[in-house]
Amino acid sequence: MFDNLSEKLDKALHVLKGHGQITEINVAETLKEVRRALLDADVNFKIAKEFTNTVKEKALGQDVLTALQPGQLMVKLVKDELTQLMGGDVEGINLSGDPSVVLMSGLQGSGKTTFSGKLASYLKTKKTKKPLLVACDVYRPAAVDQLHVVGDQIGVEVFSDRGNTDPVAISKAGIAYAKANGHNVVIIDTAGRLAVDEEMMNEIANIHKAINPQETLFVVDAMTGQDAVNTAKAFNDILNFDGVILTKLDGDTRGGAAISIKSVVNKPIKFIGTGEKMDAIDVFYPARMAERILG
Ligand code: GDP
Repeated sequence: MFDNLSEKLDKALHVLKGHGQITEINVAETLKEVRRALLDADVNFKIAKEFTNTVKEKALGQDVLTALQPGQLMVKLVKDELTQLMGGDVEGINLSGDPSVVLMSGLQGSGKTTFSGKLASYLKTKKTKKPLLVACDVYRPAAVDQLHVVGDQIGVEVFSDRGNTDPVAISKAGIAYAKANGHNVVIIDTAGRLAVDEEMMNEIANIHKAINPQETLFVVDAMTGQDAVNTAKAFNDILNFDGVILTKLDGDTRGGAAISIKSVVNKPIKFIGTGEKMDAIDVFYPARMAERILG
């Protein structure tokens, strides 16, 4: 995960660590390399610039030049700043409703259906919940089939209504079904399209308004880099969602989305997807991720 970024940051900081004497000039040079590494990883330009400015200020404020181990101190400052950028404290998902309703949003192919299954399975085993999956993609029958396959695989019931073309009605009926059948979590999988368009945004906004979920999650493919950030912004403007799910972090992603998304939409990344299988789900811990990136 993020191998390229890790390697480049390591190289950038290595220079500083190897220097006998640390000067303001090689701190500046190191930070220039750090910025380049972030840009190469597809981190937004403004964020990368702010990042290095903050680290520089802190470095000079903490007398990095006269510190006992200036290289180590720089690594720590970069790590802390990366953690901060990716979200600070860990936040769970709100399951206070009865039933708790979790709405999934995102583009087609981002991994909504897969993640709906993963979350249901996670809640079922880890939190002793009784989830219900609700299929609200009224455009692609295959999507409904896919959710049923996932449900069968993890032993979670799936509510669908194939004749119905109104996703608001299906989601409401799903919640009513959950109430009547003792499900305490309802996960609503919605239809996405290949790009942001008005129709999809209206549809998800209507569902959101009608069911008033405890938790609205935005699912995004980490491989799409800065597009992921732009899409997040578009969905957040409409839904004011509660958290981000970053999928496909097992792939050859450069890391830009993971690093930039929090500061653009000011919403935490809550979970990550790390594979196609139902157990490839992890809670997102910014500090651990920063640790992993910097080694
Ligand atoms: P949806 O259209 O948003 O519902 O997306 P899907 O859940 O159908 O996922 C699209 C494709 O991405 C499928 O082939 C999934 O198996 C795959 N996928 C989803 N999440 C992950 C992940 O975390 N890692 C990998 N490698 N593939 C994933």
